[in-house]
Order: sequence, then C-alpha cells, then structure tokens
Amino acid sequence: MGETLGRRDLLLASGAVLAGTVGAGRAEETPGRLKFMVLGAHPDDPETGCGGTMARLADLGHEVVSAYLTRGEAGIPGTAHDEAARIRMAEAEQACAILGARPLFLGQVDGATEVNATRYDEVRQVLSHEAPDVVFSHWPVDTHRDHRAAALLTYDAWWSLGRPSALYYFEVMAGHQTQAFHPTHFVDIGPTVKRKHEACFAHRSQNVEEWYADDHGRMEVFRGMEALCDVAEAFVHHPQSPEGPGLPPRSS
Ligand SMILES: [Zn+2]
Repeated sequence: MGETLGRRDLLLASGAVLAGTVGAGRAEETPGRLKFMVLGAHPDDPETGCGGTMARLADLGHEVVSAYLTRGEAGIPGTAHDEAARIRMAEAEQACAILGARPLFLGQVDGATEVNATRYDEVRQVLSHEAPDVVFSHWPVDTHRDHRAAALLTYDAWWSLGRPSALYYFEVMAGHQTQAFHPTHFVDIGPTVKRKHEACFAHRSQNVEEWYADDHGRMEVFRGMEALCDVAEAFVHHPQSPEGPGLPPRSS
C-alpha cells in the first residue's frame, strides 16, 4: 500500500527543502516555494493525468508549470492545424487558470512529434531554463506515440542535466494508453477533484466531459481505493531521482 499525499505531507516536504535536505538553493523568492513542472504531449494530458495534484500544489503556494509538447493541432477533425492549435491553446490556458498553473507550449506538432538530437536539445534547454524541483511526465509505455515522445524527451533532458530534480511519471487513460504502470506514490485529490474536472472539461473541443467518467473518473476511484481515500492520482517515482520534495515514499 502506498501512502497518500496529504496536506501535511506536502507541508512537510516543503519543510525538507527549507532544511536543505532536498533541492536546496532551488526555492524561489518565497522560502519553501517549489517549482513543479508537468510535461505532457497534448493540451489535456497534464490536466487529466495530474490536474488534482497540480491544483493541490498550487494551493500550497508552489509554482506549477503545465508544459505541452504540442498544441494539439491534429485533435479537431475537419479543422486546420493552425485553427485547432489556437482553440486548444485557449482551452489549455483556461484549464491552467483553474488549476493555478502557468501554461508553456514547446512547439512540436500533434501526431508528428519528433525524437531526435534537435528535439532532445530543445527539451533539455527548457528543463535547464525552468529548473523545476520536481518534474512529471508520461510513463513511456503508452500506445500513443506522442506520449512516448514526451516521456523520452523529458527523461533524456533530466538524465543529461545530471538528474537535477525529482522525476515522477503519470498515467493517462490507463489500459487504453498508459500500460504496465505500477504506482509507487499516490496523491489524495479529494480537496481539488472538482477543480480538476473543471479544468479537464475546459477542453471542450475534446468532449472530455462525455468520456471522462469511463476513463479518468474510474482511474481516480480505483487509485483512491489503493490509497485508502476517495479519489487519488498515481505516480511512479524514478528511484535515481531525489526522494521528494513533494511526494512521500511508498510504505509497505
Ligand atoms: Zn495526449
């Protein structure tokens, strides 16, 4: 059974940073304020995978960056890429406002993401510039190639920069997309689940409200059962990254 991240745990995690045990020197102007970055492939991936966690972290005063590898260009059938990107960026910005996150678009193209030396360099520069204390990205075993690309690019940047942050993987549409995912950490999203849903449903072009209950809604309840709370989000911690700040270790 993994532990559930409660408000007290988050505060304790911040305290650990203040004490200099993890991420010392990376805090922003406000002592104990951390930067969390979620790097997803498309507008709606960070929100559906970790929106409840993002809102909880933002509520605690932490900086939360919602990074999108693409602008969702291919996600509205019958709509030109430029127009679809405009619509989906606006939806992402609205979702981020609900969660308390800052949107960041990395400029790749939906459905045609590239993993090569240039793209590795781009994401490494973004990670180096943003210097988050904690990074979340897609779990790499995923049926969607853009999700796999986001995972690989994030992992390479994190590794080549010398593992400067904690690294966690999140899941989306478990079974259909993310596969073979066995969480090490859970976050109780009870306090923020309504806002998470609002943020997800802000992606109106994706009709998220119509399918959410059958995918992420069930995931939230199932992960909550595992974590002994009503609803939870689940993560895999890379064991070669710092334990925390932000999420507690799994207990036996
Ligand atoms: Zn996606």
